[in-house]
Amino acid sequence: MNNVRDEGIIKFKLTLKRAPAPEQAQFIALEKWRALFYKLSLIGEYPNEKIGYGNLSSRLPKKAFIITGSQTGHLAHLQAHHYTKVIDCDLKKGLVSAEGLIPPSSESLTHYGIYEANPAIQYVFHVHHPKLWEILQNGDCDYISEDIQYGTQEMANAACTLLANKTSGIFVMKGHEDGIISYATTADDAGKNLLELYRKLAVRQ
Ligand SMILES: [Zn+2]
Repeated sequence: MNNVRDEGIIKFKLTLKRAPAPEQAQFIALEKWRALFYKLSLIGEYPNEKIGYGNLSSRLPKKAFIITGSQTGHLAHLQAHHYTKVIDCDLKKGLVSAEGLIPPSSESLTHYGIYEANPAIQYVFHVHHPKLWEILQNGDCDYISEDIQYGTQEMANAACTLLANKTSGIFVMKGHEDGIISYATTADDAGKNLLELYRKLAVRQ
């Protein structure tokens, strides 16, 4: 298998303006689901590489969104300063502009691409799970093909095609090892999409 695990590497040019951490109301729904995903190892850290994985975001007005900070995967619970506000992105140029106390997730451009793909989508949860990823690849799950790298213009285009008429669901990123994305109009729907999948997997074990 090709090494497609490029988790944690920030591939965009970041402009981070130092600003107060987001208000609790802006991330409380993310934190609730994140704590559960951490317990299920859907968010965490690869022990050998010491690289964090899994990131959650919620849309704000205009092109902004709140997202978990870079390299926070090892933490069971996040505090306000671990969340950052992405103000805008440029997929073609690979630019991310953010405000906060921590750089945004290395997968911010992927989240941006999904929000751009369908204005109804309000939450994007990205988790990792090797077995689930494998099972989804061989099933009839929506996917983004393996030759498309995350956080690129190509990924955004593929997401546009995939999500144009869908407001809640799951897709697997074949070119991003272990990577699964859930999206929805509410945090609970985005979370339940993943939990249901996880439970299905547990039955098979
Ligand atoms: Zn990932």
